[in-house]
Amino acid sequence: MDYYINVVLPIPLQRLFTYQVTPSEATFLKPGMRVAVSFGKTRIYTALVVEIHHHPPEAYEAKPIHQILDEEPMVNPIQLQHWQWIADYYMCTLGEVFRTALPGALLLESETIVLRNLDYQRDDTLLNDDEFTVLEALEHRGALKVKDISSILEKKTVLPVLNKLVRKRAIVLKEELVDLYKPKMVRHVRMAPEYQDEAKLEELLQDLSKAPKQIQAVLALFQLQAQSDKPVKMKSLQEESRVSPGVIRALLDKQILEDYSLRTDRIIFEQKGETPKTVTLTEDQNKSFAEIQEFFTKEKVTLLHGVTSSGKTELYVKLIEKYLASGKQVLYLLPEIALTAQLIHRLQSYFGQNISVYHSRYNMQERVEVWFNVMMNRSKAQIVIGARSALFLPFSELGLIIIDEEHETSFKQYDPAPRYHARDAAIVLAQMHSARVLLGSATPSIESYYNVQSGKYDYTRLTRRFGNVLLPEIELVDLKQLARRKRLKGHFSERLIDLINETLEAGEQVILFQNRRGFAPIVECTSCGHSPGCPNCDVSLTYHKFRNQLRCHYCGHHTELQPDCMACGNHSLDTKGFGTQQVEEEVKTLFPEARTGRMDFDTTRGKHAHARIIQSFEAQEIDILVGTQMLTKGLDFRHVNLVGIMNADSLLNFPDFRAHERSFQMLTQVAGRAGRTEKRGRVIIQTYNPYHQILQQVTTGDYDTMYQEQLYEREQYHYPPLNRIIRITFKHKDYNKLNEASEWFGRSLRAQCGPWVLGPEFAPIPRIRNQYLKHILIKISRNTALHKMKNSIKRIEKSFNAISQYKGVRVIYDVDHM
Ligand code: ADP
Ligand code: ZN
Repeated sequence: MDYYINVVLPIPLQRLFTYQVTPSEATFLKPGMRVAVSFGKTRIYTALVVEIHHHPPEAYEAKPIHQILDEEPMVNPIQLQHWQWIADYYMCTLGEVFRTALPGALLLESETIVLRNLDYQRDDTLLNDDEFTVLEALEHRGALKVKDISSILEKKTVLPVLNKLVRKRAIVLKEELVDLYKPKMVRHVRMAPEYQDEAKLEELLQDLSKAPKQIQAVLALFQLQAQSDKPVKMKSLQEESRVSPGVIRALLDKQILEDYSLRTDRIIFEQKGETPKTVTLTEDQNKSFAEIQEFFTKEKVTLLHGVTSSGKTELYVKLIEKYLASGKQVLYLLPEIALTAQLIHRLQSYFGQNISVYHSRYNMQERVEVWFNVMMNRSKAQIVIGARSALFLPFSELGLIIIDEEHETSFKQYDPAPRYHARDAAIVLAQMHSARVLLGSATPSIESYYNVQSGKYDYTRLTRRFGNVLLPEIELVDLKQLARRKRLKGHFSERLIDLINETLEAGEQVILFQNRRGFAPIVECTSCGHSPGCPNCDVSLTYHKFRNQLRCHYCGHHTELQPDCMACGNHSLDTKGFGTQQVEEEVKTLFPEARTGRMDFDTTRGKHAHARIIQSFEAQEIDILVGTQMLTKGLDFRHVNLVGIMNADSLLNFPDFRAHERSFQMLTQVAGRAGRTEKRGRVIIQTYNPYHQILQQVTTGDYDTMYQEQLYEREQYHYPPLNRIIRITFKHKDYNKLNEASEWFGRSLRAQCGPWVLGPEFAPIPRIRNQYLKHILIKISRNTALHKMKNSIKRIEKSFNAISQYKGVRVIYDVDHM
């Protein structure tokens, strides 16, 4: 009898593919193992086995597989089930989920670029012939494609060899380039392994009796090791032992000591904080904690609604402790930008070696390690703290998922598919594991609060800050009046300037928030009104003063700013609007004594740039920190007593049905950075619209009224949470083709799905990277069966794909579009 396997390939094709296997391969294989298969003419992919069976495919001849890559499943059945749910719900393919879910290093394919890992200490005795040949070739040629390696080894399948080299950390793959060029290596030193043995050590000290300086160095090393379990830096040894570098060199030459290099970032990371303080929960906190545990017996999702600094994190810690004790795995999800070193250190100080971190700023090797540790259910990955992709890890004993800052829209993946919402997908995952879910936020999403109101979720609230610190006092400053009376200095009101001076004099720190990076969003000619736009996107270029550049924030296009208007030639260019760069510049003129820093997308590109800015702000090396929404998340600064919001209007006027909800959340969160210790903080919100209801609600901390009003509007216009939405995007470089194709699709949808189909309409930015974009929005009432609706849409897409003149128009689904 013949044997076949169905596999999922990491490509956006709807179907699974069938390959032939031998009987012995069939006995060995299990669902969730990886195999190398060829697909298309020459390409080799890593595929995942989904089932093993006896049915040959009807439409094509099944090819044999190249190789089995695993000895045991890499992906468990719950994961497969969960990924299938994501594919169905978010209208994408299982292959797309697979591609996102697995760390890149486990997904080698023939086009992958392989590089030497410069940190790797090569030891040829540990390499087999193929591995040796690959490394030799890389020494000479620097980088190779997998298929080049295939011809060098004269073998069709090289993925197993490369997989081994990846696990030995001898090679790295292309996506890690960024990391490759940056690691800062620090020399460390340790005793050679043979002297771990005490008898050997005695002997050594005897032998060295004629070399007192060398003994001094060895003893100093022991002393350093005894002081902490951290690796010992060469520099520390030199300082501690007070011997000359020659003495240490001699010990290295004699192989008594060994030196090795570590990347500083890893070390910083391994460092544990102060010994954990045992926290006794306050009465309020205890009450919430008891409620949560009570709700958990009912297996319902619980929302913890606690004002900033009320101790939500302390409650998470207590809860995690319980699950840890019962041997269960815990997943702690956070939005990417809230995953700060600050929070990680704090959790590490509680959970030490039981915690692993998983997010995109980590390189592939580190992610692969976490994957395996979770897969083996090792204690060091019993708690995983991570961004949304941590959801895909191979948990087998998941007991608890905490979703902190649950309101954050960045939990939704926007591009590429799967366009999933990590909070919602996590709740589904928890059900599959019978695990509990705790959502936490100071400003819950309308969706989650709605689920509380309708009885779907349970709810507990913390209304007071820890230590009864008062929530900051929020003051609105009317820019319109001030502008009329010419009472503004740059973008600063006198009130804000006075308070900044006061705060600085008291030795405290200031945060200034402006949700736009760059210097000015728009450059405009005051003679003819021309404003330079991006040649690839329908959008104005943003002026970046520091480099004297105009940059497109959508495609990265940039040009130098010319002094004269390109349209009329007059020397009359002016800027409109303002970004963080301009705020920073004004701060420097207004407060020349103060030390300033800036935190936005432009200043935080490097792997650790973000952490560095936070650290120096924490260490009070910066007095005034200017930043975008990056500042709003999960940061706990002890000396910030004033937060200034430069302009609230750009948030409020954003063309989106969630703009008001988001403004409330963002302003409340930034305000929450002020005065987290004894002293009550102050917040100044500058606005042209001081009577805007959202600003009033932020000022009084009136979440409930905000919710009621927003819900009413959502009801009126059939938006979530009362309705669901699916957004379909059409994309093509030909304007007319796109118009016709999207019109056709819209007509068919209206015929099938009724009146709640809006559009097609051009996107707010109608062209990006030379591609035109149109959207159709479908509003679906809660009573309609969602899967039926999706099936109808898919059927329409099928007919659409058969129309030759629409070929090449991309159709992108975004279910629950944010
Ligand atoms: P949130 O997560 O709600 O913003 P945190 O858990 O960060 O609040 O608490 C704010 C600060 O108060 C932290 O420094 C935290 O350690 C401290 N804190 C909260 N609850 C307690 C407690 N019961 N005992 C001691 N310190 C606490
Ligand atoms: Zn552009």
